[in-house]
Amino acid sequence: MLKNTPPFNPPPEAAQVLLALMHAQGEVARLSEREQLISSLLDSVNAVLWAFDWESRQMLYVSPAYERIFGRPANLLLADYNQWRDSIYPDDLDYAERSLAEVLVKGAVEDREYRIIAADGQVRWLSDKCFINQQADGQRLIVVGMAEDITEKKLLEGELQRLATTDVLTQSSNRRHFFDCASQAFDKARQEGAPLSFLLLDIDDFKQVNDTYGHPEGDLVLQRIADSGKAALRRGDLFGRIGGEEFAAVFPGCTPEMAMQVAQRLQREIQRLSFSHEGHTYGVTVSQGLTGMVEDDEVLDNLFARADAAMYEAKRKGKNQIVLG
Ligand code: GH3
Ligand code: MG
Ligand code: MG
Repeated sequence: MLKNTPPFNPPPEAAQVLLALMHAQGEVARLSEREQLISSLLDSVNAVLWAFDWESRQMLYVSPAYERIFGRPANLLLADYNQWRDSIYPDDLDYAERSLAEVLVKGAVEDREYRIIAADGQVRWLSDKCFINQQADGQRLIVVGMAEDITEKKLLEGELQRLATTDVLTQSSNRRHFFDCASQAFDKARQEGAPLSFLLLDIDDFKQVNDTYGHPEGDLVLQRIADSGKAALRRGDLFGRIGGEEFAAVFPGCTPEMAMQVAQRLQREIQRLSFSHEGHTYGVTVSQGLTGMVEDDEVLDNLFARADAAMYEAKRKGKNQIVLG
C-alpha cells in the first residue's frame, strides 16, 4: 500500500518552521528546567532574596524563604512594604532603616544585622546585605538584598562568648574576663575622679578540705563560696575567680570604707556556711585584703598588689579576717 504513496516532500519553508518549532520547544523545556532549579535553590537557602523599588517604596520580589523566616504571607509584603518594617525588633528599627539608606551613598551595605520578631513571636537575627541595582533606563532605583537567618550563629557566638569569659566550675567570671572588666571600670573611675575599691579573697586552709574530704568536695566548697560572693555583691560590682581558691571583686563608686561593709557581710555569710561530707559537718573561713585608689597616677596593678599584700597580712595575723591595705 505504501508503495503507491508518493514520498512526503515538504516544501523547504515548512521544514524551517518545523525546525524552529522544535528548537523553541527545547528552549522552553530548558527554561522551565532552569526555573525549577532556581526555584528549588531559593527554597532551600535559609535566606530571603528581595528586590525593592526605592522611589515607590514597593517590594517587587521576595523569595519563598520570607514566609518561612518571617512567618508572614509574601503577598501581603508585596502589597505593603511595611509588613517587613513591622517585623523588625523595635530597638533595631532605627538602625535597620539608617543602614538601608546608606546603600544610596555606598552602593552596597554588607554588614547589616538586626533582629525581627517572627509571626510566632520568636526573635530571629538577620544578616541583611543590600546592593543598588540601577536599571538600564536609569529611571528606577532598585535595591536588591539577601537577608540570611543567622539566629543559630548568634546563639553559638553568645555561647562561645560565655564559655570564653566564664569559669566552668563556679560560673563566675574567669581571671581574664574579670581583669578586662576591672580595667574598664578602673579607667572610667579615674576619668570621672570617682572612688573604686579592689578586694582579694583566699580560702583558708583549703588544701585541708581537699586532703580530708577529697577534691570533688573541695569543688563543692568553691562553688558555694562563689555563690556567696555573687550574692553579697551589689549590682554593678564585679566578681571573678582569679585562681584556684582565690576570688576578687571590684566595687566601682565605693571607697574602701564603703566596700568594707560588703566584705564584712560576705565574711559573715561564709562563716555561716555549713558543709557535710559522709556524716562530718564542717565550715570554712576566708581571708580578705581590701584597698582603694589613693594616688592620682594609680594603675590597676597597684591596687591588685596592695590587696594581695593586705590579704597575706590577714593570713599572717591568723586568717579569717579582713585587712585594709
Ligand atoms: P592558706 O590558708 O594559706 O590559703 O592555705 P591553703 O591550703 O588554702 O593554700 P594552698 O595554696 O596551700 O592550697 C590551695 C589549694 O587549692 C591547693 C589546690 O589543690 C587547691 N585547688 C586549687 N584549685 C582547685 C580546684 O579547682 N578544685 C579543688 N578541689 N581544689 C583546688
Ligand atoms: Mg591561694
Ligand atoms: Mg588558701
